[in-house]
Amino acid sequence: MLATRLVILGKQGAGKGTQAIRLCDYFGVPRISTGDMFRQFMKGESEIGERARKYVEAGDLVPDEVVNEMVRERLTELDAADHGFVMEGFPRNVPQAEALDDMLAPHHVDLVVELDVPTGVVLRRLASRRVCSHCGFNYSVDAPPKANWTCDQCGGAVVQREDDTEEVISRRLEQYDKQTAPLVAWYLTTDRLAAVDGEGDPDTVTRRLLRAIEGRLARK
Ligand code: AMP
Repeated sequence: MLATRLVILGKQGAGKGTQAIRLCDYFGVPRISTGDMFRQFMKGESEIGERARKYVEAGDLVPDEVVNEMVRERLTELDAADHGFVMEGFPRNVPQAEALDDMLAPHHVDLVVELDVPTGVVLRRLASRRVCSHCGFNYSVDAPPKANWTCDQCGGAVVQREDDTEEVISRRLEQYDKQTAPLVAWYLTTDRLAAVDGEGDPDTVTRRLLRAIEGRLARK
């Protein structure tokens, strides 16, 4: 069976979550978002949630061994093992990318897309971002859900993320520059990266992404 394995990179607020949901619908694959997984674990009383909490709350990266183990387990579930995935928020540094290659062998990531958006734009988007606390669907104060801050998709409460404060956002962007930006160069050297302009309305960005991805899958 032909599986599709995609990774989306991009700064916080670049639109990774919104675009990942659309790409999952299009390709019929599950979305694997490590940020969402941590937020779900932190709601309950799990060991992973407890180990991750202080890092997530401070805007720091959770240690690699915790996140790698969580992803490794997720990838053994049949939906991802059989059909592939759109992964978002992982990998976040070169050691995680090496671990991902190892988890997927003998398969590999088909394409890594970097959603390119200037920092000034992501700061504006993050200040107005609101998310469904249940399914992770993204809204903003300018484009809220239809009724009473209740998610159009699942009825969950739509809220501001606790790490979307000015102080934590600047910490997360700093981590992106330090740890995740070098990944772009790393994937480029192995010819697995496509940079896609992430500015503009979501439909336009989705069309750009699909053009880049389908061009690559045709060469598979
Ligand atoms: P996100 O929703 O992707 O912005 O992730 C929210 C938070 O979860 C991050 O600020 C980190 O604390 C943690 N996190 C998510 N993915 C990873 C990862 N791949 N490696 C380390 N920490 C992560």
